[in-house]
Amino acid sequence: MTAQVELALNTLEAQLNQPLETALEACARCGLCAEACHYYRAQPSVEHIPAFRAEQLRSVYRYERDFLSRLFPFWTGAKKLDEKTLLHLTEIAFSQCTLCRRCTINCPLGVDTPLLMRAVRAMTTAAGTAPEILVMLADAAIEKGADPSFFKELFLEQIREIEEQLRNITGDPNATIPVEKQGARVLYVPLAGVHTILPPAIVFNAAKEDWTLSIFEAANYGVFLGDVNRAKQVAKRIVDEANRLGVQEIVIAECGHAYASYRWDVPNWFPGQFHFKVRSMIEVLADYLREGRIQVDPNFITEPVTYHDSCNLARNSGLIEEPRFVLKHIVKDFREMTPNKAEALCCGGGGGLVALAEYTERRIQAGRPKAEQIQKTGARLVVAACENCRLQIGDLNERYGLNVHITALTDLVVRAMRLPKPLPGTEAEHLFEGQKEMVELDPPAH
Ligand code: SF4
Ligand code: SF4
Repeated sequence: MTAQVELALNTLEAQLNQPLETALEACARCGLCAEACHYYRAQPSVEHIPAFRAEQLRSVYRYERDFLSRLFPFWTGAKKLDEKTLLHLTEIAFSQCTLCRRCTINCPLGVDTPLLMRAVRAMTTAAGTAPEILVMLADAAIEKGADPSFFKELFLEQIREIEEQLRNITGDPNATIPVEKQGARVLYVPLAGVHTILPPAIVFNAAKEDWTLSIFEAANYGVFLGDVNRAKQVAKRIVDEANRLGVQEIVIAECGHAYASYRWDVPNWFPGQFHFKVRSMIEVLADYLREGRIQVDPNFITEPVTYHDSCNLARNSGLIEEPRFVLKHIVKDFREMTPNKAEALCCGGGGGLVALAEYTERRIQAGRPKAEQIQKTGARLVVAACENCRLQIGDLNERYGLNVHITALTDLVVRAMRLPKPLPGTEAEHLFEGQKEMVELDPPAH
């Protein structure tokens, strides 16, 4: 057995717990999960059936665990793990599954296939066959946490520039972007880039929130690697910051995997240290509207608009009505995709796949069912509350000629606030074009 294979098997062994063993043991091979998976819908073949993917790990597990399978592997379909199988597993877990969980909720036994794919991701990360870029991004985030002084000066300089923009747009000379504000009520955690800082800063200022901006980003590439150890180290930066500042609440930028991990996993990783409420920016928008803390123009958009449910926000976290509640305040012609909400189809960009250039073609092909859904709504604007979804839908827009614009929910709300000056373009090119066009479609009344 090579060292690589040994590392992978040790990692599988270390992960075995009741939920994982149940997922490994329980499958009736009924095939009902096939249609649930966007890969299968895009290309109906056996290898795109979720249960077939899971079987690749199950066969290895059987070989390791079952005496009979070791003696007669051909009888039970068991497989001894070797380097070739390890590479095959790597490819399956990182390019043929976005961990969307649609197969799980459509399986009569509730088999958690994405849990198996996460286990494979962890095995291949330990063995060194996982995509290098994800490992590099996770390690870079950990390094940043180890010595924030290295980047802080430049970061603060950038924030002061964004603050200037904020004052210019809102016409409020006192509008601020507080950083490291001791005792603030809310710690807002952005993604990398001004486009996830400026619009929320406008909203927080308008709502007179007692907030402070995190010096770290919400994205956690350790989660995509299935590597709990790395994921914990990335998350620890935010947990430590929140404790250091004494905040009551952590608000996560519009990002599916970051919200799901801070909402569900991180509190369990840091028992006794995590006393914070966690909300997504989309919940904050809904609450501010409900409480009358921000004002929007109800006639802001007359063009047809649809909303894409991020798997992590809707199916996995239950944030289904909040974005629709927000959209009802600013959109005249809202059109649902079919299916939607908890049953929404994955766009194909989740699970870290948008970061993996080597699988771009596969990712765009797997997104075809989502592209067709969007097209059928006749919408001109697609709202998505997750950065990865927006990037993927941008690619689908280009490939399938959807002729739509894509925007974040916060950006749309900010534009509907009818501020003295419009929100400028951001470094997210596809988003910028969509917004520019939207302003032309529906110019401010004054
Ligand atoms: S995972 Fe569930 S739906 Fe799919 S084949 Fe197994 S039992 Fe059937
Ligand atoms: S989690 Fe999503 S992408 Fe992965 S096998 Fe299930 S349906 Fe397909």
